Amino acid sequence: MVDFIGIERVQELVGRRGAARFIEELAGEIEADFLRWDLFDKSPRHATHSPVGVIELMPASDGRLYAFKYVNGHPKNTAVGLLTVTAFGVLADVETGYPLLLSELTLTTALRTAATSALAAQRMARAGSRVMGLIGNGAQSEFQTLALHHMLGVREVRLFDTDPRATDKLERNLARLCLHDLKVVRCASTAAAVSGADIITTVTADKRNATILTPELIKPGVHLNAVGGDCPGKTELHPDILRRADARVVVEFEPQSRIEGEIQQMDAAFPVTELTQVLAGRVPGRVSDRDVTIFDSVGFALEDFSSLRYLLRVHHEERGAQQQIDLVPDLDDPKDLFALLARGSAAKPARVAAAAGVAS
Ligand code: NAD
Repeated sequence: MVDFIGIERVQELVGRRGAARFIEELAGEIEADFLRWDLFDKSPRHATHSPVGVIELMPASDGRLYAFKYVNGHPKNTAVGLLTVTAFGVLADVETGYPLLLSELTLTTALRTAATSALAAQRMARAGSRVMGLIGNGAQSEFQTLALHHMLGVREVRLFDTDPRATDKLERNLARLCLHDLKVVRCASTAAAVSGADIITTVTADKRNATILTPELIKPGVHLNAVGGDCPGKTELHPDILRRADARVVVEFEPQSRIEGEIQQMDAAFPVTELTQVLAGRVPGRVSDRDVTIFDSVGFALEDFSSLRYLLRVHHEERGAQQQIDLVPDLDDPKDLFALLARGSAAKPARVAAAAGVAS
């Protein structure tokens, strides 16, 4: 049988661990894998574009495990009551090619994106960064807030969204979290939200080269966590922000970010550093308190690989509904697949997860 983790199980697992601890543990897994960078088979994701959105496949393997994520991005979806981003993924055993886990990754993508943002900010933001401007208050925004509050010590978030209902929702959800040491300030514009901010997170959805941040809004020393621009023709930063002499730009996987990140606006020689170098301490995230650091996040398959492996481990550690599905048949004679139809009997469940030795 193949382990299955649906939305309810992720809710249960996050509930048991606590969201902040879950994000921090996930960040630890992601960091550990970024530090094993050279072991990974890496490629830019395969994107299928339509006029209204994109559907992407994201594979990664360390030679022992293989993972892929299916993810979409459709900014127009929320107008008809659907999410902008949904995802699911598979973790498989490279030795046999058998799937070990089929999992939801919509909630998990939000958790891992926030975890990666916090990891980058820990190395790139100025020490003592406490105030974050948060532009775009949609589905990802609570996760970003939680991660930067818990892992970085952000104590004030300044919110702005062109849709006031999104900010209402974010305020409501943050109030429910009862983070007594977090001040939440609702702002009337992007300029007001970034005023006095040590960190600016942009997590807007719009399938065009939007200009969420313009150069005059960016003060020396600020850290930009640019999350929403993640597709060709879909960016958030004015290119002159990237061109600043004091700007230091970090990306996840350069070949993919050249296609999808904010740096798609720059020529191929534009200098960037990969996150692995910063996490390994080979390149400093920032050199001076006046640097403008930019994490040009697009989301890389390795983060989903780490997430699926972490989910499988926690799924086995925590009590509750440990569901499995009969995705792969187990046959007495593996050459006699037809026996399944001839007998009309159910397949014997294959214990592939146990066989691969990663599930416990
Ligand atoms: P969402 O649709 O739920 O929320 C986006 C919000 O942005 C909406 O509330 C919208 O009103 C707001 N917005 C749009 N234009 C704006 C503007 N000019 N100023 C202020 N607010 C504006 O989407 P989501 O799930 O929160 O995702 C946000 C973005 O993050 C998407 O573009 C998505 O593709 C991207 N994303 C990136 C990663 C990554 O790893 N980098 C991961 C997940 C999602």
